[in-house]
Amino acid sequence: MKLFDSHAHYNDHRYAEEFEGGMEGAISAAMNEGVCGFICVGTEPDNCRRAIDIAEKYTKGFAAVGLHPEDANMFPREKLPAVIDDIASLLSHPKVVALGEIGLDYHWDTPHDLQKEVFEAQLCIAEEKKIPVIIHDREAHGDIFDMLRAHPDVKGVMHCYSGSAEMAKDYVRRGWYISFAGPVSYKNAENVRAACRAVPLDRILIETDCPYLTPVPFRGKINHSGYMKYTLAAMAQARGEDEETLARATIENSMRLFGIEL
Ligand SMILES: [Zn+2]
Repeated sequence: MKLFDSHAHYNDHRYAEEFEGGMEGAISAAMNEGVCGFICVGTEPDNCRRAIDIAEKYTKGFAAVGLHPEDANMFPREKLPAVIDDIASLLSHPKVVALGEIGLDYHWDTPHDLQKEVFEAQLCIAEEKKIPVIIHDREAHGDIFDMLRAHPDVKGVMHCYSGSAEMAKDYVRRGWYISFAGPVSYKNAENVRAACRAVPLDRILIETDCPYLTPVPFRGKINHSGYMKYTLAAMAQARGEDEETLARATIENSMRLFGIEL
């Protein structure tokens, strides 16, 4: 069975420190499990460039570039427009298939107005360049929903979805894709499974968000795309679908959304 990881951070320094063989070791472990490719996602200019370098090493490796709401904190506020311009300049690279991850994260203490400013600027770029976006939404469901509604031409994926089933249906109606990661397998994540059931087969994606969010039974260990089969099993069980059908749908949906061949 073939799987494509729509959201991975092989550019994360944890691979060099914690995984035998580093990033290359993790990707080859994933490929041994039938993973055909991945989107390596950046969150600030340096690791966006690293994401592109990694994507270039693999036929079905791709990259996404964006300024994550938490990483916006790394720069003085007056430098942010230049940082965003720098990231936007990477969008024309042939391996870059999406703008992301971008969004809002209210779990930590980056000021909300600063996060919204950075998010809004990048939504405008996505609109202008007609490129899909990858949305990070942590404890900010209402504000994300409102800001996306103000940009009806921007489309993409809600990554590691954690909102309600109702909201998932609303996103689908407006042309969005919904992606699920390891948490769908967690014991206390009935709300995530309910959302997973609510998404039609032609709008669902699968991802790891590795090195984070490792699915059961490896929760707590460093994650890689090879563990996605456990996430797939949890999704298929929640939806009452066979794994093969679901796996094939996630591949077709990734190809359609990101305009790639898998
Ligand atoms: Zn991520």
